[in-house]
Amino acid sequence: MPAPVKLGNITIHQIVEQEGPFFDILSFFPILTKERLEENRAWMQPKYMSSQDQVVLCVQSYLVQTPQHNILIDTCVGNHKSRKHRPFWDNLNTPYLERLATAGAKPEEIDLVMCTHLHVDHVGWNTRLANGRWVPTFPNAKYVWSKTDFEHFSAIDRDPDKGPAIGGAMRDSVYPIVEAGLAQMVDGTETIEEHLSLTPAPGHSPGHVLINLTSQGKQAYFSGDILHHVIQVYHPAWNSFACVDQPTARTSRRMTLEKCAGSGALLMPQHFGAPHVCHIDTKGDGFTPRFV
Ligand SMILES: [Zn+2]
Repeated sequence: MPAPVKLGNITIHQIVEQEGPFFDILSFFPILTKERLEENRAWMQPKYMSSQDQVVLCVQSYLVQTPQHNILIDTCVGNHKSRKHRPFWDNLNTPYLERLATAGAKPEEIDLVMCTHLHVDHVGWNTRLANGRWVPTFPNAKYVWSKTDFEHFSAIDRDPDKGPAIGGAMRDSVYPIVEAGLAQMVDGTETIEEHLSLTPAPGHSPGHVLINLTSQGKQAYFSGDILHHVIQVYHPAWNSFACVDQPTARTSRRMTLEKCAGSGALLMPQHFGAPHVCHIDTKGDGFTPRFV
C-alpha cells in the first residue's frame, strides 16, 4: 500500500481495492479526439494509460485518522456483490478489510463513513454479506452522504422501467444502512466533525460532495469522481461518459482545482493511478499536478 500522508496531526492511509486498466480512453472521455490522444500519449503511457489505450484507474478508500476518530472516505466496490453491468466489479473477493486492518483500523473501530456520492464504486464496503444478508460492515459508524443523491437514486430504483439503480447497489449497500439507523443524510454545506466539512459539487451525480479536511493550518480535498484521471487536471472541461450534468460537472471540477491551487491543499483523488495524491498549480487557464 502507498505510504501514509501526514496532514498536521492527522494521518491519511490509502486502502486500495483495485488498480489497473479499466475503460477504453476514447469512450471514457467522449470529448477526446484521436488527435488529442496522440498529443498526450507520450506522457500518459504506460503509467496513466495502458498499451491497449485504456485509462489506468485506482479504486480506493481513504482512512483518515484524527486524534479522536477513524474516518473512512468512500467504500469502493465491496465483496460478493453482483455487478453484471460491470464485469470487472462483479462478485469481487479482495482482502480489503485485511488491508484496512494493516493500515490501523478494524471495522468496529471506524467512527464515520463518508460517501462522496452513491455510485457503485463508492458505497460497496458500506455492507458485507453475513448469513445471506447485507449488514453494515462498520457497525459503530455513522454513515454520511447527500440527501440529493439518495433521493435521486431511490427514485430510479423504484421505477420499474429504470431500476434497480446503480447496478443494485442501493439495495445491497445503501438501504441496509438506512434500515440499521446508521445513515445521516446531509444537504448543502455542512461541518461533520472538527476537521471535516462538505461542499456540494454536483454534476457527476446530482448530489456529489467535495470533502474538505483541515488540520493545523493544512488542508486536503477528497474529490470522489469530480475528477477521474490526471488528464482532467490539464483539461478541467473534459467530462467522463458517466457525468450526468455536463456543464455542472465542469464547474465543480474547476472549483475543486481552484480551491486546491489557491490554498496549497492536497488533492486526494479516488481514481487517479499511482502516485495518486498531488498538489495543484495553476498554469495559464488550466492547472498542473505536482505529485507528492
Ligand atoms: Zn467512481
